Amino acid sequence: MEFTAQEKYEFKRLLDDLRSKTGRGTELISLYIPPDKQISDVMSQLREEYGQAANIKSRVTRLSVQGSLESAMSRLKLIPKPPANGVVIFIGSVDVGANRTEMYSTALEPPDPIVTYRYHCDSSFLLGPLEEMLADKKTFGLIVLDRREAAIGVLRGKYVEPLKHLTSTVPGKQRKGGQSSHRFQQLRLIAIHDFYGRIGESANDAFLAIDPKDLQGILIGGPSPTKEEFVEGGFLHHELQRKVLDALDVSYTDESGLYELVDAAQDRLLDLEVTQDKLVMRRFMKELVSDKGLAAYGEKEVRHNLELGAVEVLLLSEDLRKTRAKIVCTNRSCDFTESQTRSGASAPLGNCLKCGSPLSIAGEEDIVFDLSKLADQSGAQVKIISSEFEEGAQLYKAFGGIAAILRYKTGHV
Ligand code: ZN
Repeated sequence: MEFTAQEKYEFKRLLDDLRSKTGRGTELISLYIPPDKQISDVMSQLREEYGQAANIKSRVTRLSVQGSLESAMSRLKLIPKPPANGVVIFIGSVDVGANRTEMYSTALEPPDPIVTYRYHCDSSFLLGPLEEMLADKKTFGLIVLDRREAAIGVLRGKYVEPLKHLTSTVPGKQRKGGQSSHRFQQLRLIAIHDFYGRIGESANDAFLAIDPKDLQGILIGGPSPTKEEFVEGGFLHHELQRKVLDALDVSYTDESGLYELVDAAQDRLLDLEVTQDKLVMRRFMKELVSDKGLAAYGEKEVRHNLELGAVEVLLLSEDLRKTRAKIVCTNRSCDFTESQTRSGASAPLGNCLKCGSPLSIAGEEDIVFDLSKLADQSGAQVKIISSEFEEGAQLYKAFGGIAAILRYKTGHV
């Protein structure tokens, strides 16, 4: 499933939150239930685990594990049948500091179907399967070759999948006695050409089977001049030929060469990933210094422009850790309310401007969602920008993580 920027952000934040939770012993339960799994089977496993937990020697751990299992079972009772992608349940007493624990539980339908049933108990939640769903599923074709050997594979997200290994019958440079040197060289070139042809055919079979939308590019590795000969010789289908991104030096041309190729292409791959973000950030920087000045930054100014409907693209840093809170007065007979942007739960609220009583929070949400909603109302595009590249880091550091490209110029706030 393709995520929208906001969904991806929300999912990332949820994983961050889950990652931060720890238990004292092994009482944090992670349940991954595939769509076709019977809930009754899961229930009977949990009941069995509950019985087993009676053998745990430490009283505190025993009660804590059994408590988690009880909560898991009552949570499951509410789910008669897993939803389309299955369901993930995280449950257990988590450490909340000051020697206290608190029962935590959440259930969610993942963005991709769960394939394997898992019941996992540990001092932290099992997040690997969800992290994999969030990972980039972009695919790259990989070819490594020299004149004797070649390997073909794909890179999906972070995983290299070797597909085919080929060897040639190209004779070595040393001719055997009795052959004329010229004849030998000719035969050798024909054999090399044939081998490149076979590599090309295998690569065509493998890469044309991939949805062209998913196939981001093809990387080729090997010694010089072999890889250049292959790239320039037109051995690949013309659709694939257009997707060749780079030819890089690698020393192995078997399966391990595929991994070597991915390592060698890291910078290139990272560039591709952030290109979209980079382009929009560059546009913002350009507007910032241009005469037209169709740029705004800082929460106050951007919010003002959003309210006017003047924002074309809203740029939000992935590292923003702020909330927008609705604040009310604790004095019941006072009607004072305001909205505050807060950085962290411990930021002081201050006192009522009307009556001086302490203030309290009536509702709070992530500022990314608060501003995204405003953007949606005026049809502005929302980009949530990673800090993993220079311009992205600048958005966070120099512009407070909030910026906009404007449709038209407005006055400053
Ligand atoms: Zn008040």
